[in-house]
Amino acid sequence: MSTGTSPGTDTVANVAELRGVSKTYPGGVTALRGVDLDIGYGELLGIVGPSGSGKSTMLHIIGTLDQPSSGTVRIDGYDVSRLTDRQLSALRAERIGFVFQQFHLAVGVSVLDNVADGLLYAGVRMRERRASAEAALTRVGLGHRLGHLPHQLSGGERQRVAIARAVVGEPALLLADEPTGNLDSTSGAGLMEVLRDLRAGGTTVVIITHDREIAAALPRQVHVRDGLLTDSAKALAPGTEGGES
Ligand code: ADP
Repeated sequence: MSTGTSPGTDTVANVAELRGVSKTYPGGVTALRGVDLDIGYGELLGIVGPSGSGKSTMLHIIGTLDQPSSGTVRIDGYDVSRLTDRQLSALRAERIGFVFQQFHLAVGVSVLDNVADGLLYAGVRMRERRASAEAALTRVGLGHRLGHLPHQLSGGERQRVAIARAVVGEPALLLADEPTGNLDSTSGAGLMEVLRDLRAGGTTVVIITHDREIAAALPRQVHVRDGLLTDSAKALAPGTEGGES
């Protein structure tokens, strides 16, 4: 990547490492209280907990959209506190993909170009952007909808477009914040299949959810409550399959 600095660690077995991460927002709400978490390359992980427990705060910090009040965060081997704003933007653009509950697609822009625009930062020519976009859309089962506009798609299809856009640049880490939150259960199940397929293809996938059923189907779960990870989550070694539900 082009952050212009070499990884700040000798071993980069983990795509994300949080150590003693706390977050207190201006105004005094403490959302995270000393979180330790390792996420290995290639994992499929659920961050699970009730509303207000600190899941989104954790996702924003892992995604380098926000910095902790204390503690250290390493993403893809980089200590994010040591990166300049420009390096941080590069890390985010090249190595991290985001999917949110609200699909955030550009209105009136074709499915193909919604995804192709995910590569704008990379300085890739339009023809190559579109070729990569078509490949990403095919991966999520939408190779037959390239010319559609977002409003012509179902909710589940729109979220697949958002996923294709998030992975078109082949990020090391895909962060999905309640990706099935706006979907019916059938579309939601289909979407989880897509995320599982991406993981099988080598992408690290982190899913935030308050839905215990969705979480229970994931190979690893980290439980968050009142800004703390539960002991069961902490006891899980990185890359371990299974865990409590
Ligand atoms: P979750 O994603 O589990 O619902 P959040 O991480 O969004 O939880 O929120 C954790 C706590 O931090 C909540 O009490 C919430 O009100 C608070 N919080 C979240 N974002 C902010 C913010 N930008 N400013 C102040 N407080 C916030």
